[in-house]
Formats: sequence, structure tokens, C-alpha cells
Amino acid sequence: MATAVGIRTVNHWINGRTTPSKSGRHGIVWNPATGEPQAHVDFASVEDVDHAIAVAKKAFPAWRATTLSRRSEILFKFRELVDANRRNIAEMLTMEHGKTLADAMGEVARGLENVEFACGIPNLLKSGFTEQASRGIDVYQIRQTLGVVAGITPFNFPAMVPLWMFPNAIACGNTFVLKPSEKDPSPTLFLAELLHKAGLPDGVFNVLQGDRVAVDRLLEHSDVKAISFVGSTPIAKYIYETGTRNGKRVQALGGAKNHMLVLPDADINMAADAAVSAGYGSAGERCMAISVVVAVGNVADELIDAIKQRIPKVKVGPGLEEGNEMGPLISREHRDKVASYNDIAQKEGAKIAVDGRQDPVSKRDGFFLGATLLDNVKPGMRCYEDEIFGPVLSVARVHTYEQALHMINENPYGNGVAIFTRDGGAARQFQFDVDAGMVGINVPIPVPMAYYSFGGWKASLFGDLHMYGPEGVQFYTRAKVVTSRWPDPSTSSVDLGFPQVR
Ligand code: NAD
Repeated sequence: MATAVGIRTVNHWINGRTTPSKSGRHGIVWNPATGEPQAHVDFASVEDVDHAIAVAKKAFPAWRATTLSRRSEILFKFRELVDANRRNIAEMLTMEHGKTLADAMGEVARGLENVEFACGIPNLLKSGFTEQASRGIDVYQIRQTLGVVAGITPFNFPAMVPLWMFPNAIACGNTFVLKPSEKDPSPTLFLAELLHKAGLPDGVFNVLQGDRVAVDRLLEHSDVKAISFVGSTPIAKYIYETGTRNGKRVQALGGAKNHMLVLPDADINMAADAAVSAGYGSAGERCMAISVVVAVGNVADELIDAIKQRIPKVKVGPGLEEGNEMGPLISREHRDKVASYNDIAQKEGAKIAVDGRQDPVSKRDGFFLGATLLDNVKPGMRCYEDEIFGPVLSVARVHTYEQALHMINENPYGNGVAIFTRDGGAARQFQFDVDAGMVGINVPIPVPMAYYSFGGWKASLFGDLHMYGPEGVQFYTRAKVVTSRWPDPSTSSVDLGFPQVR
């Protein structure tokens, strides 16, 4: 791979310190706002992965035995450090991902909520106790930690998605190996330093930079007990199938195609504001971005006009420049792929209502692309079927609520979905009918709070348990049920029958 001289290298974090790779392989971290390389990132070898896992395994017994109060105290300190460094983290995110600073600050804030949730671990691990289940016998359940667990995360939320995983995982007493996206690897290294400063023992949290080599080794290593993955659907499926085949517990969150159903009675201005914000925010590179507006009945023309009026007002430019609302895409290849959908859509019979390629920003250095609006999009077209993951909003026109629901439920993905209406009954019916994991009612991006759990349905999630919140705690622990009797000679006898309680 071509290398640029004189730029920094992003290393691994193993056993409480930055650790250079022994592999000799690396990738380039680009600055999406300029199109220039800004760093090298180490790519782990199998030996690097084995080293990180061995370190995490060694740290496990002592960490597991650490009291809940102490674990919680470290997380509280970590929470304070992240809070004090919000801006630093956000700037790192913007530099490597490209999103605007305001958006990056939002990412840090939503990530922090998961640390706050994990601070309550003593309360979260309380279980049930049954006294006198049989004569002199008590039964109770405890939730115990798994061991070494791994997280593999995508480029689009380089801080928040890791924060969905490791606070709960380590709070539960596991040790953790994180493989962040190679496209924007620095924020997690900084989070590792903050954990260290907060007093986390060495080896409890480790970061391995890298590509498929690292992922495959994590998937096959017998000392890794569970894998949390977030990324695209083909890779999520691969992770789930390979990890479970190797006997691991796996939760693998995949891609999305989120619909926003707009009923004829909706407030048009509110719906248009929401469609523009949720369609083009973070340049459409959010797994909860709205990518299809399903306009019911006669609402379409008015809604499209309202969206078209708003698009020229969206300020696109480098994320670090004050006032910009949308930054560049993650890479040149991705920008070009997203832009290619306009021609494909037109050939397939959709109408380009606004062509982002014509926006002067698309000619700038850096991986910029203006906002595109496609009209008359239908199932079967590639712009409908594919997760484009860029600033492209499609409008599908249907006559009835039933047709809209059918379209949404037939779609292979089921991450987020939203309905815009003034009719409470219709919204309630939609919540009942729709096949998706997260539903917004007049809310376009319904990301659950940290005390619920995040996860889609269908091809948006492989596995059973959603991420973070109560289901996160469940994922990172396993149940043990204890049936106990303390010596009472009066109840002792030989009995070859199966234990009964009455
Ligand atoms: P990606 O699937 O390309 O990469 C995710 C991770 O998998 C990265 O760490 C990457 O290094 C690794 N990876 C990539 N190819 C691999 C391979 N062949 N074998 C093993 N590992 C591999 O995803 P991305 O482009 O980084 O992120 C965007 C995708 O993530 C979108 O599809 C988006 O919808 C999805 N996403 C989903 C959620 C969710 O909660 N469902 C959240 C954020 C992002």
C-alpha cells in the first residue's frame, strides 16, 4: 500500500500502553475534508491478536474478583474524564470521520450515556432469591461474567458504538479487546488512555487496530467467549455465522434502510424538517438515517416541494468549520459509489428531483457530495434495495397506509422506522403492525436511551440480544441458578426419586 512520509502512526493499546504492531502492515487514515492522508494505522497480525487476547485473559481473574463498588468507582471516574474531554474527542472524530463538530459532540454525548448506565452496575447485577422453595431449600440466580470478550466496530460512530459495548462489558467483570474501524481509529485509543487514567487495571481493556486478519483471529480464538459486532449486513452475517460456529456468543448488528411514513394529515413542515435532518445529517452515514420517505396519498407533491426548498439551505463543508451542517463522506471510493446511484436510479425510472453531484461542494478537494433527492422510487430499484449510506433521500409514493406498511415490512432490513401523523390511533396501529426494532412517532431517529437497548430486526441484527442497556448486561453475563440447603439432620433421607418440591 502507498505510504506517505512524516505522518503519525496509530498503534494498538495492549496491557495499559500504546503498543506498535509487529506485523509491518498498515493502512492509511484519510482526512475526508481535504482528501489527504493524515496518519498510518497499524494492522494487527495473528501474533498481535494472540498477544492482546493473552493479556486480556491474564487480567481476567483479578478483574472478575474486583468488587462491584470498585468497578463502579472506576467507571464514574472514566465518566468524568470523558465529560471533561468532550471537545477533544469530538475534534478527533471530525478529523478522521468528517462529520461536523456539532454532530461529533452529539455522538460523544450519546456515548457517555452508556457509561452512566454502566456506573449503576451494582444495581444492574441484582438477581432474584426464592426462600423455602422446598423444605429448608432456597433458590437464587446469579449472573456471572464471561471472560475475554471482543468488540468490532464500524467507521460511522467511532466513539459511540465502542461505548455501546465496553462500559457494560467491563462493568460486568469481563476483559475486552476492541477492533475499531481502520478508517477512524484514533478516538478509541484516546478512550483507552482515559480508562487507564481512571484506574482501570492494565489488560482489562485493549485496542487492536486492523482489518480482516484481526477480525478472523478474534472469531476463531478459543479464549474469546463473546463477540459484539456493528457494521454492514454481509459482514454482520459472516461474523454471526463464524463466531457461533466457533462456540461464541454473538450479537451482530447490520445495515439498514430506514423508512419514514408520512400520512396525509401530517404537519408538512415538521415532516420536511425531519426528513432533511435525518436524511442528510452526518452525510447520511448513520445506521438510523432516513433513506426512504413513504408518502401516502396526496401528501407527496407538497412534501417534496418542502424538502426541495430546504436542501439548498443545508451548509456543506469541512466539519471543523463553524456553521457547516454536513461534512464529507468517509472516502473517495465511497463518495463515488454513492454518487453513482443517481444515474442508476434514473435508468431504472426514478426521477432526480435534486442532484447532489451538481452542488459546487462536490467539486471541492475532499470527499464531498451534495444532497440528492430521488422521486418515484419503487421496490426492485437498486436505489431502493441497496443501503446507499450517503446523502441520498428517496421518496416512494403510495396510495394507502396498507401499501406503505406492506412496502416497509417486505424490506429485508428492520432497523429504525418513523411515522409522521397527527392521528394517535394511526400511530398506535403502526407501532403494532411494523416489523422493525426501533419506532419513532413524529421522531425521525428513534435511537433508544441508554437504559433501553438498541437493535433492529430482520437483516439488521443477527443474534438474540440487542446492544447496550439491560440486554447488554444480559449479553455480557450468564446465569447460574443455585439451589441450597444448609444441614438440617431432620430432613435428611435417602430418596432415589427425582427432586420434587411438594
Ligand atoms: P463494515 O461492515 O465495512 O465494517 C465494520 C467492521 O468490520 C470494521 O471494523 C471492519 O474493519 C470490519 N470488516 C470489514 N470487512 C470485513 C471482512 N471482510 N471480514 C472481517 N471484518 C471486516 O461497516 P462500515 O462501512 O465500517 O460501517 C457502515 C455500516 O455499518 C453500515 O452498513 C451501517 O448501517 C452499519 N451500522 C449499523 C449500525 C447498527 O446499529 N445496526 C450502527 C452503525 C453502523
